[in-house]
Amino acid sequence: MKRHGTQNLKMIGVRDLRDINQTIFLHLVRDRQPISRADIVKATGLQPGTVSAIVNRLIKEKLIYEGIEGPSSGGRRPKYLHVNAESAYVLAIDLGVKESIYAVSDFNGRILTQKSVLTEGDPEKFLRSLSREIHALVRTQYPRARVEAVGVSVPGLVDRAAGTLIVSPNLGWRAVPVRALLEEELELPVYVENDANAAAFAELWYGPLDEVSARTLLCVLVVEGLGTGLIINGELHVGTSIGLGGFGHMSMDPKGMTCSCGRRGCWETFASDRATLDRYRRLSKSKTRVRAVTELIALAGQGDAAALETIKVTARYLGEGIASLAHGLSPEVVVIGGEITGAWPIIGPIIEGCIKSNYIVPPISFKVRPSSVLRPSLFGAIPIALQHCFGGGRDKQTNHVKVPQSFLNSGSRTPARFS
Ligand SMILES: [Zn+2]
Repeated sequence: MKRHGTQNLKMIGVRDLRDINQTIFLHLVRDRQPISRADIVKATGLQPGTVSAIVNRLIKEKLIYEGIEGPSSGGRRPKYLHVNAESAYVLAIDLGVKESIYAVSDFNGRILTQKSVLTEGDPEKFLRSLSREIHALVRTQYPRARVEAVGVSVPGLVDRAAGTLIVSPNLGWRAVPVRALLEEELELPVYVENDANAAAFAELWYGPLDEVSARTLLCVLVVEGLGTGLIINGELHVGTSIGLGGFGHMSMDPKGMTCSCGRRGCWETFASDRATLDRYRRLSKSKTRVRAVTELIALAGQGDAAALETIKVTARYLGEGIASLAHGLSPEVVVIGGEITGAWPIIGPIIEGCIKSNYIVPPISFKVRPSSVLRPSLFGAIPIALQHCFGGGRDKQTNHVKVPQSFLNSGSRTPARFS
């Protein structure tokens, strides 16, 4: 499956890392920086001479640099190695139903600039104008940056081999060649992923330290719609080349309300943000329109009983859905992303209680927590672009996003709390 539009791009050093050892090294240094040559020898089991040769090459290519000297353990004082965060940048685009966010990230996966725009109008026109805005920002703010790739997160069904958004009922888009359009405008390789899958990927990259070895992680992304992303054995589970966004459309009531997909009673019709806001309108009989779940949480905080009850009901539906899935998937971690997690002190205990009372074999053995980042679908688009630089790449047959084992097994990642 050949991608278009990237053949004439100016290649930079990072993409020329054909030597797999170099890629693993780079990953290791990024993960455990500051790290000495001796530590790399220990971690990789390679000969010190081989390690030095590769390290010297990476330093020469300016992908890593030597920082201050560390304490001596008798012999020469070791110099610590760091990833040159500015050696390559990536762009992340999170296409949302109401607003879209784009960000510039450095090689460490740290966001340098983040902007939002209203998602509106014809998809092609919108994507082209968004690209021009991004292009202008990079040109003026990062004129010397070497931007390597673009990760895009979309709320819908994705053909990831073609980079096409097949359909997004919530966006109202159909057959949009996202990759082709963006590659034409930005002249960079573009990777398109379903938003819930991206959110799951964000947990692997930005999640807490004690979970890096988790084999199964279920991420529930609650936005305008509701989707799930699943990490199994350190790989994002995508099934076929079509990214469906998981279990949001599993039926909870065949006679329930009509869903964005056209069927009835999907999980999304009970627990998505749209469902929550509709419920509040019904419960409160209020004429004032609450447009966002964050507003609803604020109202609950001010003593609005209907707002509080609305949030509690959503939490119960989230808990019921998760309990059903957990029986089949037996995850180690369940992560919930979206604005609703702003009410975690209210929803957390309800979700846990609901899972406990629905679980066949108590006690439940998995952890349920809010996502590590505030907008997981945006943050997930960063590693989706970065893994291309690190050489995790895509399996040619399945186009799965792969996480190098060196990354999963490393135990000293900087814990992250991003906003
Ligand atoms: Zn549905």
